[in-house]
Amino acid sequence: MIDFHQVDKHYGQFHVLKSIDLHVQEGEVVVVVGPSGSGKSTMLRCINRLETITSGGLTVDGITVNERKTDINTLRKEIGMVFQHFNLYPHKKVIDNITLAPIKVLGLSKAEAEKTAMYYLDKVGIADKAQSYPSQLSGGQQQRVAIARGLAMKPKIMLFDEPTSALDPEMVGEVLDVMRALAKEGMTMVVVTHEMGFAREVADRVIFMDQGQIVEEAEPEQFFASPKEERTRTFLSRVL
Ligand code: ADP
Ligand code: MG
Repeated sequence: MIDFHQVDKHYGQFHVLKSIDLHVQEGEVVVVVGPSGSGKSTMLRCINRLETITSGGLTVDGITVNERKTDINTLRKEIGMVFQHFNLYPHKKVIDNITLAPIKVLGLSKAEAEKTAMYYLDKVGIADKAQSYPSQLSGGQQQRVAIARGLAMKPKIMLFDEPTSALDPEMVGEVLDVMRALAKEGMTMVVVTHEMGFAREVADRVIFMDQGQIVEEAEPEQFFASPKEERTRTFLSRVL
């Protein structure tokens, strides 16, 4: 579903991604961990072309991401993304935050889009907040709205970039619960997170990045119990 083949990326002179090889199967949940500045967000953002790669190959569901003739909207329809900061429109009600893209991009009628929005709001457990404004919601609720908004586009892939890092600790669990349920349903997911418990429990594979490289990848059990690389061990000793 996602295929990085020897991908390099530079920001000017800075070599931020170094020969990245990553293959994500349909229905797989890949958790990406690593120190701040290691290139996790950049790698994620290359997938929906929020960043462009310098060299190498990157395909998503058979679409060559960086080919000139690739329609960026076709690509992005397949991919939902959830950020650390929820990026909801503050002046729009929750329901209108969710229906906006399905109406504009997918061409749904308002009624259809609202029906879909309510379905996903119910799924993330906050159907009762449909008529509220984002500022009337807790951080955890806002992030669940952001997830519902992503799902309402019926993407094939969901990308999460530290979705719980901006939340008060007591709200982390409710967001991880939604993500766990999504994983169980077979969504293809790439998740950047510092929540090692989530990685251990939900990931099919854990990727450790450091200084722009994938240093190690393994199934969670092996990754946490017997990491092979010294850099991985050092990182884990700091975060666990
Ligand atoms: P992570 O998500 O692992 O913290 P990032 O992908 O955000 O890492 O950043 C990797 C490195 O690239 C950092 O050193 C960061 O400062 C740098 N970087 C990120 N975005 C840009 C940019 N737009 N221009 C220049 N450097 C950037
Ligand atoms: Mg980041």
